[in-house]
Amino acid sequence: MQAFPAYPSRRKWRRRLFLLGVIGLLACVNGALALAQGAPPPQDEPLHLRLKWKHQFQFAGYYAALEKGFYAGEGLSVVLEEASDSEDAVTAVLAGKAQYGIDSTELLVAYGRGEPVVALAALFQHSPEVLLARTDSGITLLHDLIGRRISLPPASLSLLAYLAAEGIGANQMTIVRNPFSPDPLLQGEVDAIGAYSSDEPYSLRRQGIDFLMFSPRSAGIDLYGDILFTTAAELRSHPDRVRAFRRASLRGWEYALAHPQEIARLIADRYPGQRTIDHLLFEAAAMRQLIAADLIEPGYMTRGRWQAIADLYAGFGMIGRDLDLGPFLYGLAETDRTPRIPPGLLPASGLIGAFGLVAVFGLLRYRKIKRALTREIGERRIVESHLRQSETRYRMMIEAAPFGVLISSLSTDHIVQINARAEDQLQAMRHWVIDKPFADLFVDPADHRRLLDTLNKTGSIANFVALLRTATDNDFWAELSAAVIDLDRSPAVFASFNDISQTKALERELRALAERDSLTGLANRLRVMDALRSEFDRVTRYGGALSVMMLDLDRFKVLNDRHGHVCGDEALRHFAASALATLRTNDLLGRSGGEEFIVLLPGAALGAAKLIGERLRAAVQDKPLSWQGRSVALSVSIGLASRQIGDTPDSLLGRADQALHLAKANGRNRLETADGPPTTATVIPL
Ligand code: GH3
Ligand code: MG
Ligand code: MG
Repeated sequence: MQAFPAYPSRRKWRRRLFLLGVIGLLACVNGALALAQGAPPPQDEPLHLRLKWKHQFQFAGYYAALEKGFYAGEGLSVVLEEASDSEDAVTAVLAGKAQYGIDSTELLVAYGRGEPVVALAALFQHSPEVLLARTDSGITLLHDLIGRRISLPPASLSLLAYLAAEGIGANQMTIVRNPFSPDPLLQGEVDAIGAYSSDEPYSLRRQGIDFLMFSPRSAGIDLYGDILFTTAAELRSHPDRVRAFRRASLRGWEYALAHPQEIARLIADRYPGQRTIDHLLFEAAAMRQLIAADLIEPGYMTRGRWQAIADLYAGFGMIGRDLDLGPFLYGLAETDRTPRIPPGLLPASGLIGAFGLVAVFGLLRYRKIKRALTREIGERRIVESHLRQSETRYRMMIEAAPFGVLISSLSTDHIVQINARAEDQLQAMRHWVIDKPFADLFVDPADHRRLLDTLNKTGSIANFVALLRTATDNDFWAELSAAVIDLDRSPAVFASFNDISQTKALERELRALAERDSLTGLANRLRVMDALRSEFDRVTRYGGALSVMMLDLDRFKVLNDRHGHVCGDEALRHFAASALATLRTNDLLGRSGGEEFIVLLPGAALGAAKLIGERLRAAVQDKPLSWQGRSVALSVSIGLASRQIGDTPDSLLGRADQALHLAKANGRNRLETADGPPTTATVIPL
């Protein structure tokens, strides 16, 4: 009997279908899991990001994230909205009109009021808010703003805090509330405006208006700027979406900062406003510095800086002290370690659901890949995170260093980087300094050459003092230490420097004090001896005459005894004035001690010196001191000697001293000269 091939029984079919179903279900669950780990599912309604102001480079990262598909890559559909004049971003987000927004650090004030806002990232490491004042309004100092008209944007606490920190109250100026705009200043309606250092200066420069920029940072008020934020509700209900939104936005920022030209063009084409490409690029360059993009990854924020900002606001009574910042700060404690599944695997998981059997292999294979990927990504992330952490740490240390840091390429001699302190000292924003020749900073080009010569020879230099030039042409004395480093495989100068102008001025003052006699204001003995030695050297080298006179007031003890010591002091000053009046500009009169003086007469041979000495003696005699209604007579004895061949400073002084003794012995109030061979000083060695 022909046996027909047996059909599978019903039970068997049911068992096979059941198995397929289970496999399909497993695959579906796994697909869903993969989706949840990698990116949030695509939403129907687009997310809204409310910008802080009108379309411009200030929001470059968000345009880049949108146009380059970073949001889409996370499964997000995003709409960017300009701020409206009547409603700020915080109000719009709290009203549910947008899920995300950009605000200044005043977001913290909203949080302090109890609004459920959460800061996701700080884009500007330093707030761009500054005061710009027209120089033709006669403003040279911040305090010149007192009594003036100033246009400030509605929320400008950092500027008011700055003015307050400098002792200027809001009631000392006429404050006009306006949105950020250079117009009132351009039209001369106000003397100063609150502005973004990255924006309005462009318009002012274009119009040829000279202005000064005052930054709150100069008063130690250093806030973050442009905070990306959301609501506590959004974070609670869609933590993955928040994470994805933040991640894509910051990726956008990295892209925008690396491709400013492309994004500037994109903004001009797709988000047209009033700004030209040139203006957008000016913004881009200025923002790079404020974002500290070369130092810190975009969006970086720390609890410590937020606490300092909270303390500042609390100091102004804007928020309570001891505010718990925990719920306000996103992601400072947690780290985002969820490995991302390659997007190609996601559709694969979906297909597996439909074709159960294939799913078994796919599932096994996927699990294996996933495990390997997870391990590898995890390890790489740890290494990368350590690298990033240490790099960030060093960059932050340099940025926060209390001394100026400057890096200049050794091959092009162009400045590559400076830190915040250097900006202060050079009185220039970073983007004005970067790419300028290092040599331009030196008032004396020889200093620049000497520095580079030494660095080329020895690789480093310490305590090099040079006069540096600031952007505002205020030169200052700097002490530099520098070393040659390897920067991206080419040699560069890494220099740190400090302004030592004050120390220099003090040094000069001390030196002047150390060289002056305090009673008469004349040169003291030290100074006269220095001058004598250098005059002597000059005459020995180049020839010419040199005479020296030693002077001693006559019977000065008697004068003191008769009229008192105070009168004696006055007589010494009176003598100094009378004597000085008879001398030539190049002669040097000094007090060598007590009532004894010395005069250097460069270029005067014995005959000419005698005439000068006689004139001096006569002037002292002819000009008695008036003291308490009485006339007090003064006279002086003078010993004169002129330099002879073979003289030393000491031998010349010795002969002048001998001549002085002779003048005293011959009756005082007279001048004697020293004749005869050179002798060495015996009586009054100076
Ligand atoms: P001779 O004509 O011989 O130089 O007589 P003399 O009195 O000037 O000489 P002597 O050296 O005996 O005395 C100098 C006096 O000058 C003694 C001292 O009290 C006085 N003297 C020195 N320094 C000062 C000073 O700074 N102020 C005053 N008031 N007197 C001074
Ligand atoms: Mg004397
Ligand atoms: Mg005397």
